Amino acid sequence: PTAPIAFLGLGHMGGPMAVNLVRAGYSVTGFDVVPGALEAAAAHGITTVSSAADAVAGAGVVLTMLPSGKHLLDAYRGTGGGPGLLAAAAPNTLFLDCSTINVEEAREAAGLAVAAGHRAVDAPVSGGVVGAEAGTLTFMVGAPPEDFTAVQPMLEVMGRRVVHCGDHGAGQAAKICNNMILGISMIAVSEAFVLGEKLGLTHEALFDVASAASGQCWALTTNCPVPGPVPASPANRNYEPGFAGALMAKDLKLALNALESTGVAAQLGPLASAIYDDFAADGGAGRDFSGIITDIRDKSAR
Ligand code: NAD
Repeated sequence: PTAPIAFLGLGHMGGPMAVNLVRAGYSVTGFDVVPGALEAAAAHGITTVSSAADAVAGAGVVLTMLPSGKHLLDAYRGTGGGPGLLAAAAPNTLFLDCSTINVEEAREAAGLAVAAGHRAVDAPVSGGVVGAEAGTLTFMVGAPPEDFTAVQPMLEVMGRRVVHCGDHGAGQAAKICNNMILGISMIAVSEAFVLGEKLGLTHEALFDVASAASGQCWALTTNCPVPGPVPASPANRNYEPGFAGALMAKDLKLALNALESTGVAAQLGPLASAIYDDFAADGGAGRDFSGIITDIRDKSAR
């Protein structure tokens, strides 16, 4: 439909997102620094090249799905003497970053792109690998209105919901604010279930009351941390993710950085960050984040 898309970062999320763009008729040229990721993408019908500069040549959009803000800024600027993406791209290229990174890094990346004569959009996602494969991600977008309008159709191919949150960095801001609510509320729900257990309350009784009362929240009614009340929740399959503890720990670290840089007098956000760091370091990295309840229960043994 539009000018070719250079897709950089064909990992767990980027791989299936790129496949959905190809299926919708977009011309996609993919690159990843890991040969295995490139081979997997090629096997799924994505045209791959052996350098970032080759991917960017002739592209109208440079879409990145990278592990961190440092990866993004290094790629934009170039490292080790090689030209960065910003220098390799034709003037007025649209740089669309879908990675989850610090708000400040997102604003810095956008500033660099604009200073180099390009356009920039931050559009982090929620929905996980399942959503990336099914094309049902939610995109939280930070961009000037005309750039939002330009990327909206391709985001609608990869996602089901696309929300314009404000100018550069606003997509990342919305994502970490939401995930801070989620991280804290999962701990609250888990502590309540363990307290209920100690008080002789069945999981069903607490669920029946709280799910229809003021304790209602996504952590309780969709991702319930105990098996039984919500059959599809990860607790019913031994906390297989879902949303892995390592990713919750990462997102809360980004929230913590933003709380510190803005001076918000938050107490629960930093505490939740520390709690998920411990969870991830202690075997929870690859488990669903709702497995935090087993840590709370184990530490409560008396
Ligand atoms: P991943 O590690 O599977 O994929 C990242 C890919 O980027 C890797 O294949 C890596 O080799 C590649 N890469 C690194 N530097 C590169 C460069 N300079 N050029 C080209 N490729 C490069 O990670 P993922 O799970 O796909 O996550 C990607 C981003 O999406 C992260 O920021 C993550 O926080 C976010 N995210 C992930 C999920 C999830 O469920 N996995 C959900 C929402 C958001």
